[in-house]
Amino acid sequence: MTAEIATHIRQELTRRFGDRVRFDEPMAAHTTFKVGGPADLFVMPANEEEIGYLLCMARQWGLEHVVIGGGANILVRDRGIRGMVIALADHFTGISMVDEDPGGIRMTALAGTRLHACCRYAMDHGLAGLNFALGIPGSVGGAILMNAGASGSSMANVIRGIRIMTADTEVVAVGLNDLSWSYRELSVCFLSKALAMDEFLILSGIFELGPAKPEIIKAEAGEIMQYRRSTQPWDRPSAGCFFKNPLGAQSAGKLIEAAGLKGAVSGGAAVSEKHANFIVNRGNASAADIIRLSERIQETIYHDFGVALIPEVRIMGE
Ligand SMILES: Cc1cc2nc3c(=O)[nH]c(=O)nc-3n(C[C@H](O)[C@H](O)[C@H](O)COP(=O)(O)OP(=O)(O)OC[C@H]3O[C@@H](n4cnc5c(N)ncnc54)[C@H](O)[C@@H]3O)c2cc1C
Repeated sequence: MTAEIATHIRQELTRRFGDRVRFDEPMAAHTTFKVGGPADLFVMPANEEEIGYLLCMARQWGLEHVVIGGGANILVRDRGIRGMVIALADHFTGISMVDEDPGGIRMTALAGTRLHACCRYAMDHGLAGLNFALGIPGSVGGAILMNAGASGSSMANVIRGIRIMTADTEVVAVGLNDLSWSYRELSVCFLSKALAMDEFLILSGIFELGPAKPEIIKAEAGEIMQYRRSTQPWDRPSAGCFFKNPLGAQSAGKLIEAAGLKGAVSGGAAVSEKHANFIVNRGNASAADIIRLSERIQETIYHDFGVALIPEVRIMGE
């Protein structure tokens, strides 16, 4: 891309988005790991029309783009992201009650809405089923894409449909028949084809929840939060569990602990003493420190137990 085109794109974005666009924006400010180099273009759309405009612009100028929510499950490399980050968590938000149907009560939330806001809304409206998501940082879109879960449940159990925008800006309602959920993953089918990550983004999710007394939901919520605080390192930046739990083996955390890696350090990154599947930023970690430590963990676990650990955290950028 020529300097002239880059300047034109920046001017167009500034004209349209004002202070909702930033250039060379440090991604460390937008990830729970608190690491990550600059994104060339960082844009915070507030509605579907603006999202469509950004996708068109990306296509017109051949810009790579990535969508983020709360940045709670990503690790951005130190040289940052070339192209455009479409960040939904700050402005593309909102929750509403849809209606009751024989299956339960339906609530819809825009992709950028924080998951904890949905939990709070459900609690206040006497809707049960979402307490498992309490304390899971991030947005509705990120949680759906990651099939986020805890306490024996996950998004797959409460989502009844989503709306997506395809890369050519078509808005499509996707029902359960076209959603394939697996452990920390969602695959979306459109026109009988599984869509790749850069072929769609999630606009909203429809939740189906059951009625319950708010005081019962609140009591359960208290227990869940207490359990989280006692088992996870909340005092240090992280992206939650770094690795997926391997199928048919002990949990990743148990394997890492058994390999004697609790407390292992690489530069500013460390394996948490509290939960061995959390890599934490001790304050001055780089993405390279975190990646080096994760590779050391993978090598050790493979050597000691013959198990290949796969990152749950999505690594992006350069
Ligand atoms: C302290 C801590 C505890 C955690 N505990 C849990 C837990 O118990 N269970 C659990 O499952 N996870 C947990 N996590 C991980 C994280 O909170 C979840 O994965 C969360 O759902 C990520 O949401 P997000 O909006 O931050 O996604 P992001 O990190 O912003 O993005 C994650 C992925 O989703 C994509 N994405 C985001 N939004 C959209 C969209 N609208 N459309 C299309 N793609 C999108 C991104 O491109 C990226 O690939 C924890 C994290 C932390 C920091």
